[in-house]
Amino acid sequence: PTFDSMGLKGDLLRGIYNYGFEKPSVFQQKSILPIIKGRDVIAQGHSGTGKTASTSISILQSLDTRTRETQVLVLSPTRELAAQIQKVILALGDYMNVQCHACTGGTSLDKDIKKLGYGQHVVSGTPGRVIDMIKRRALRTRSIKMLVLDEADEILNHSFKKQIYDIYRYLSPSIQVVLVSATLPHEVLEMTSKFMTNPLRILV
Ligand code: AMP
Repeated sequence: PTFDSMGLKGDLLRGIYNYGFEKPSVFQQKSILPIIKGRDVIAQGHSGTGKTASTSISILQSLDTRTRETQVLVLSPTRELAAQIQKVILALGDYMNVQCHACTGGTSLDKDIKKLGYGQHVVSGTPGRVIDMIKRRALRTRSIKMLVLDEADEILNHSFKKQIYDIYRYLSPSIQVVLVSATLPHEVLEMTSKFMTNPLRILV
């Protein structure tokens, strides 16, 4: 299997090769196609398997960059991870004219509101700041069609459970949910049963 055989957009393929990737990792081979076909996916695998690039490629393939509406929301347990995901999305999407904003705590609220106002295709954030931006109506959820929960076990460890459930209430009931987690403790499984429909479980 190659990136070429995945049916990805040409400008995305160019970004992938230019970033230095030659062929998909095992994790990418198993997860990218089901995600871009629209399935809910629970992806279990440790770091180093290419998880971040896998969700980033799937997100970029799903975007319609002709509109400026937010279509994908990524939630992470830490500011660093949210920024890292933003960085990978912008790098792989270098030829796609993609707008991706890191919406995290510890930064200026005014700047956040302004950046969101420009129109961001992807918002990669931490739960507290994201729910704040939704409640201020700075982050519009109407066009969000995919929710990615990265390091879901860590998100729940950081006691973000209430914020995650609050955010979910603002999203379309038919939203596609992709959950990435190294482990699947009870609280993560509880979330998958509430948020996900017939999820495909991938273990690497
Ligand atoms: P991750 O598991 O997302 O933390 O990724 C681990 C490392 O593997 C990162 O440095 C990625 O840039 C790299 N990586 C991810 N996918 C590929 C690939 N298909 N080919 C080469 N390196 C990759």
